[in-house]
Amino acid sequence: MEDEPGILRKSVKENRSYKRFDVYEIRKEFPILQRLINDKPLVYLDNAATTQKPHQVIDSINNYYYYDNANIHRGLYFLSEVATEAYEKARLKVKEFINALSASEIIFVKGATEAINLIASSMFRAGFFEEGDEVIVSNMEHHANIVPWQINCEKRKIKLKVVPITDSGELIMEEYVKLFSSKTKLVSIVHTSNSLGTINPVKEIINIAHDYNVPVLIDGSQAVPHSKIDVQDLNCDFFVFSGHKLYGPTGIGVLYGKTKYLDMLPPYQGGGDMIRTVTFDETTFDDIPNKFEAGTPNIAGGIGLGTAIDFLGSFDFDDITTHEQNLLNYATQRLLEIPGLKIIGTAKEKASVISFVIDGIHPYDIGTIIDTDGIAIRTGHHCTQPVMKRFNVPATARASFGLYNTREEIDKLINGLNKVIKMFK
Ligand code: PMP
Repeated sequence: MEDEPGILRKSVKENRSYKRFDVYEIRKEFPILQRLINDKPLVYLDNAATTQKPHQVIDSINNYYYYDNANIHRGLYFLSEVATEAYEKARLKVKEFINALSASEIIFVKGATEAINLIASSMFRAGFFEEGDEVIVSNMEHHANIVPWQINCEKRKIKLKVVPITDSGELIMEEYVKLFSSKTKLVSIVHTSNSLGTINPVKEIINIAHDYNVPVLIDGSQAVPHSKIDVQDLNCDFFVFSGHKLYGPTGIGVLYGKTKYLDMLPPYQGGGDMIRTVTFDETTFDDIPNKFEAGTPNIAGGIGLGTAIDFLGSFDFDDITTHEQNLLNYATQRLLEIPGLKIIGTAKEKASVISFVIDGIHPYDIGTIIDTDGIAIRTGHHCTQPVMKRFNVPATARASFGLYNTREEIDKLINGLNKVIKMFK
């Protein structure tokens, strides 16, 4: 698309060759990281909750509203075409990013939560489940992969079968295999745990389910920011994630589904943009992806997510993974030096997420005290109450690292924690 003459447009870079991974250069791209909190530089270690946004993402959203705003898929006029093209280009970027077979397999939703609700609701309405059928989930699911099933299960009396986890926070695969029966209709499992950091052996999980002819939904919310995902290689049937954990905006997320399932499922919501014909007697629906995108979507969000993917695509993803794994190793080693500190979640394969508790100090106190030094970590159950119950803790403190975090920030976290311990002594 050409810029209109006279219009000042901030450049939104589309990088094609990899940039050298330099964390200090990367930090300059994130305006919020220059902020002071309580007169101290922000140390943002809550990336599993949401990530900060590079200026490219912010600029692309601004540019959309400044120069290109119009509704999509509707008008034949210039701006509507520009907006439609930008939104559909974002869909293509997502398709490339996770290596889907086709862009029509990418459904834009609000986030991972909406994606799972969509699948649960549409599957139930499609008659996919009969009374007494079973869905396999794991003990480490986010509530977003428990409650949507329960809401529907309750009505149709479907049972959740739960894969147990070891003391280190790994799925017990022998128990997983035993959960299958003729009533198993779906496996819905988290790729990477947001509270334990565990990276699950999803390929093996999917292969086993397919041996039983059972489709698999993967909650990839915590996987996409940390490692390269290839849905065709995984061979999952559905894959969901949220844009805001991937350096993109809030209010936009992705449901990937294999065409055969998306074609089979009924729409989640009805309204404009998802129909072919409407009369008062009958409505026929459009093809995917439109069938699942009723009403005006989050156009700016889609565009912003596309820009976040461009931003990540400017690096070799292996460099991001390596950097974060180095941070994970360093932080693990430093945290274990702290007397009375226990890490919850010590799986062999972990993403850069560390939950911990300290003897005699409530996680809320830890979070509140280190906040005075500008250090942001998450405390609570992390929307994984069954995990807290499994490890017999009411809550944990959690530090989670993104591509812009540094060793110096981990040192500040450690100093902060030592200060907390001193105060409590
Ligand atoms: N699944 C996992 C593993 C998550 O970490 C989260 C967010 N914490 C979600 C699902 C839900 O994501 P959202 O709130 O963006 O819909």
